[in-house]
Amino acid sequence: MAETSNLHIAVVGGGPGGYAAAFLAADLGMKVTLIDPEVNPGGVCLYRGCIPSKALLHIAKLVDEARHAQNWGIEYGDPKIDLGRLRSWKEGVVKKLTGGLGLLSKQRSVQYLQGRASFENSNTLRIARTNGSEETLSFDRIILATGSRPAIIPSLTLDSPRVLDSTTALELSDVPSSLLVVGGGYIGLELGTVYAALGSRVSVVEMMPGLLPGADRDLVLPLHKRLEKIFAAILLNTTVAAMKEEAGGIRVTLKASEALPAETQQAASLPSEQVFDKVLVSVGRKPNSEISGLEKTQVRVGPRGFIQVNTQLQTDDPSIYAIGDVVGEPMLAHKASHEGRTAVEAIAGHKVAFEPNAIPAVVFTDPEIAWCGVTETQAQQEGREIKVARFPWGASGRAMTLDRTEGMTKLILDPHSERVLGVGIVGAGAGELIAEGVLAIEMGALAKDVALSIHPHPTLSETIMEAAEVFFGQATDIYRPKR
Ligand SMILES: Cc1cc2nc3c(=O)[nH]c(=O)nc-3n(C[C@H](O)[C@H](O)[C@H](O)COP(=O)(O)OP(=O)(O)OC[C@H]3O[C@@H](n4cnc5c(N)ncnc54)[C@H](O)[C@@H]3O)c2cc1C
Repeated sequence: MAETSNLHIAVVGGGPGGYAAAFLAADLGMKVTLIDPEVNPGGVCLYRGCIPSKALLHIAKLVDEARHAQNWGIEYGDPKIDLGRLRSWKEGVVKKLTGGLGLLSKQRSVQYLQGRASFENSNTLRIARTNGSEETLSFDRIILATGSRPAIIPSLTLDSPRVLDSTTALELSDVPSSLLVVGGGYIGLELGTVYAALGSRVSVVEMMPGLLPGADRDLVLPLHKRLEKIFAAILLNTTVAAMKEEAGGIRVTLKASEALPAETQQAASLPSEQVFDKVLVSVGRKPNSEISGLEKTQVRVGPRGFIQVNTQLQTDDPSIYAIGDVVGEPMLAHKASHEGRTAVEAIAGHKVAFEPNAIPAVVFTDPEIAWCGVTETQAQQEGREIKVARFPWGASGRAMTLDRTEGMTKLILDPHSERVLGVGIVGAGAGELIAEGVLAIEMGALAKDVALSIHPHPTLSETIMEAAEVFFGQATDIYRPKR
């Protein structure tokens, strides 16, 4: 790439957005400096997000499966958990992956500076190195990939080791006898699942009328039912009014969610105070857009704290691009890395835009929930005409062999063009299955294309094909005549 090979690019933040951008820029021949406070790239996702949580969820699944095996005539007894070894296994996974990224940076001749960057002007950064030194460097373009951090509720901020956020919860310093998870979003439910498997009595409080607000209710229902069995309580329409530390734990005052009509305020019957050994506050994430010196540039930050960008990920300052959690929802690693690659291609002068039809979302609970493209909830809100074809896993041979028939696969289709607009799956392994939905949507597949593509038997992937057959009223394994 002759036209871009002299460009010197800085990438601020070494998460999945930042390192994907830095690596592609190097592959395209640019000179690249990547800046992050950690010893190696990885960001939230690798150090305190996706990867450690999934390592622990794998263990939770194993513990749960071992218990479940009683149903099939196999008994293992209660698990003995060596927390130290479990922790070091999880840390080992993180170290291997982040070390690998460090190596990939070197192989690509990316200059990795461990430190924090602030702006001197639109093209110049001051870098405060972790080793105490400082340097000022100028660049042709700067990509901001500073990510996000856990949101806090000021009235619930207690400086106590008994109050956790996602970062400290993943450190797994102990297994509390009881844990209150504040917030029924995906992070709270994933971490609650881990702690429940390790032996904590987990309760969840969510201010909205259902878990995972925003996800389609038919996908959430099977998960809710299963979580009711492994959690001590799921308190909906409820908020935490106050928290106070006392000798035996955190005293939490719960109250009915004010935003809701009186008849839905089931919280009225709650004991208004309860004591928990620990409390995990997971009420969302905030973008890291308060970058020192940003006011010296033309970058604009929106009302919710997200840096404003166009479809090339360029900010209002022509030299500065921004990607990942710091530019908006969905705050997901794969969105960040695709945005990172798009920004670099835009800088390289390629004709690109970040305009995906389907960004998959996965909740790695058990069962998993995954969706992509248009959701039913969204279609209803927009008054968009859709047809939904559902295939219940009770009719799947593979689900039966796994003793996991509670799942469901649905396709959301345009009734006229018969094009696949969205896919939703709840069930074991939904996170792996959803990629086929993404491909179908991005390739503009019709229901017939999905139905005619031969899927291997017996697999859960067949449920996607059979959902397409349901659309035509001709599914082999269930009788659903077309109405
Ligand atoms: C518990 C948990 C589980 C998650 N699970 C998943 C999952 O399963 N799948 C998924 O897709 N997503 C998951 N996420 C979300 C995912 O981690 C984020 O979407 C992703 O990390 C965003 O990537 P990013 O590149 O935008 O920024 P980040 O990963 O947040 O990285 C930003 C980096 O920039 C650094 N930085 C900030 N300011 C500066 C500065 N001034 N100078 C230098 N460096 C700076 C930060 O220290 C950080 O290292 C999870 C998050 C959490 C907390």
